[in-house]
Amino acid sequence: MDDRIHISSIVLHRGEEPPISGEKGIVNVFFPSCNMQCVYCQNWEISCRGTQGTVMSLDEVCDAIIKLLPLSENNLGFVSPSHFTLQMVSIVEELRRRGHNPTIIYNTNGYDLPETLRELEGIVDVWLPDFKYSDDALAVELSQAPQYSEYALAALKEMVRQVGTTLHTDDRGIARRGIIIRHLVLPGQVENSIGVLKLIAEKLSPNLHLSLMSQYYPPDNLSAQNRKSQIANRKFLHRTVTHQEYQTVIDSFHDLGFSHGWLQDYQSHKNYRPDFSRDHPFE
Ligand code: SF4
Repeated sequence: MDDRIHISSIVLHRGEEPPISGEKGIVNVFFPSCNMQCVYCQNWEISCRGTQGTVMSLDEVCDAIIKLLPLSENNLGFVSPSHFTLQMVSIVEELRRRGHNPTIIYNTNGYDLPETLRELEGIVDVWLPDFKYSDDALAVELSQAPQYSEYALAALKEMVRQVGTTLHTDDRGIARRGIIIRHLVLPGQVENSIGVLKLIAEKLSPNLHLSLMSQYYPPDNLSAQNRKSQIANRKFLHRTVTHQEYQTVIDSFHDLGFSHGWLQDYQSHKNYRPDFSRDHPFE
């Protein structure tokens, strides 16, 4: 990416965890392309490598955000920001210069460098990282992300260093400081999920807030993505997670001592179908 501000979408989003979107919603800024390339990506229209989005000026981006902020819980999320952190900082600084101080949320896949995250101390209030894989071979095969677990763990340690393990919410229950770790359970990959939970419990803390997601569904272009990545057309990706698989991961969540977080309803894969060709991709 270059140094311009490439934007896929700026929308009010109500589909995040309760302390993130609350009743009103969060203003989400979606950046195009992604530093991981998951063959099963549900946002593939905008996250596919090389996707450019629309180039906007700093004023245009801030105007669009400021228009939506009064409708939100006064929070602003940056989605897939890892390769746009300099632009993100410019946006936050310009908003502050104009008198707007929304809670800033960094919504990332976790494949970030700690040294980059250190530069964001004082900019980001709430970290919202994925922890996708404990199985590094799977991370390479499905997401072109070598040494994913090592990088994600180092990134999350830096996040925890900055904000601690407690999630601070306001009197409306909206997150204002802290960290929530997301994990998407993949079909046929229960051991990967349990490995992720173990890494978090043992290397970080079981006191952290987790968000377990069951919403995986095979995207329409999965076969084409599999071919492009030159991987076997893995059958498990062509189905949703079974109830038994999801329950096994939930059991592990409890067994490992986690007690904070959110367990997505098992049927969620039927509800989450964004379409980024629409003005409102989530409606
Ligand atoms: S990390 Fe998330 S946004 Fe990026 S390609 Fe993977 S699923 Fe898509």
